[in-house]
Amino acid sequence: MSTKPRRFFIRGHKLLFQQGDSGLRLYDGPDTGALYRRDLGDLEADCAGELIALSDQTPPPAGCVEISLRGAFAHLPELVWVQAGRAMQILDWHHQHRYCGRCGEKTVEQHEEFAMLCPSCGLRSYPRPTPAVIMAVTVGDQILLGRSRHFPEGMYSTLAGFVEPGETLENAVRREVFEETGIIVSGIRYFGSQPWPFPNSLMIGFFAEAGRNRVIHCNNRELEDACWFSLDNLPSLPGQMSIARRLIDAFVSVNRKK
Ligand SMILES: [Zn+2]
Repeated sequence: MSTKPRRFFIRGHKLLFQQGDSGLRLYDGPDTGALYRRDLGDLEADCAGELIALSDQTPPPAGCVEISLRGAFAHLPELVWVQAGRAMQILDWHHQHRYCGRCGEKTVEQHEEFAMLCPSCGLRSYPRPTPAVIMAVTVGDQILLGRSRHFPEGMYSTLAGFVEPGETLENAVRREVFEETGIIVSGIRYFGSQPWPFPNSLMIGFFAEAGRNRVIHCNNRELEDACWFSLDNLPSLPGQMSIARRLIDAFVSVNRKK
């Protein structure tokens, strides 16, 4: 493991890159004028990360290119992109917890863990990922996909929604599918998870089986449309960076083998 941390420069809400020999790479210039820096730990990445936030009130360093976290997926290996997402979430958390949410006192950042401590009332505020379930509902070689209004034209994806207080993940899967499409599911099986730093979700993926009644009652407050798709007529799908696409690909792969 390298001892020098990988540095993530963030200005505004963009990551800084620079031109390398073979395309863009993370900006690695001087860190003068940094407003905030924080060690990000090792994670499962190949090397430790460091977040360096620059002011967006001054011009960006010469020669650098500013790219959104979504856009950065095309320029970084996946593990490094995940680490960049961690940097972005830690910076958001730091900005949003400068004052105590209970008594309003200025907080003090802790360095032995990610926590902002209120010196007056003792409240500790931690970065909190927000759990959301995402599920491939299937029956035989058919999969239930929906589209929300902000999707690119023609694109459909797996259903998803935030977990509510007091719910198990399985409850959340059943409730979300029923609320969005009127379909009752069972046979819920865990698939995998993915940090989704837009801004701070943790997507928890499942497969679920539809019951006998497959008539969709699409809830138009949540979705523009929802349909059953078979293997040979899949619509346009989300990109490879999302767990939604991995769920759909896993469904396709299992059914192709049959
Ligand atoms: Zn307080």
